[in-house]
Amino acid sequence: MANTSQNTPDNRKDARPALFLDRDGVINVDKGYVSRIEDFVWIDGAAEAIAAFNARGWWVFVVTNQSGVAYGYYGEAEMAKLHAWMSAELGARGARIDHIYHCPYHVDGKVERYRRDSYDRKPKPGMLVQAMTDYPVIRERSFLIGDKETDLEAARAAGVAGFLFPGGDLASFAEWALADIDGGR
Ligand SMILES: [Mg+2]
Repeated sequence: MANTSQNTPDNRKDARPALFLDRDGVINVDKGYVSRIEDFVWIDGAAEAIAAFNARGWWVFVVTNQSGVAYGYYGEAEMAKLHAWMSAELGARGARIDHIYHCPYHVDGKVERYRRDSYDRKPKPGMLVQAMTDYPVIRERSFLIGDKETDLEAARAAGVAGFLFPGGDLASFAEWALADIDGGR
């Protein structure tokens, strides 16, 4: 189902808005460098929020800084395993993430190959920009939900709206955010 074609006028007819979600603090409780299934605790309403936007025909993308890779706390293979499990759990609840974008780099990383500045690391917008290159996205209707100001900065830099999730139920918050966006146009 992945559409890796460029976002050209030819496929704008397939374009849809996108819900961008940060991971830690939005989909799962942010315990700091979560890399193991046993440490993964769902945020209330996470699967419901994703399923609701699937049903609307929106793209759903995760954009997550994973500097734990650069620090050597876990590897990308371990992270991929967690994400595969997360996607399967969501699938069992009727929710689908179209693509998980992660940034393993950090300028102070301990693992040399990941020690660098990156345009993908939020507050920079690289992961959102990449998603909008990989998939035909209606940018003006898209928005991001994050739990840090740096998430919102990344959204702004990518030209999409951003909402700061204060905790609670993600599905309720996402519906509120959508209503806020729609009300503002
Ligand atoms: Mg977060």
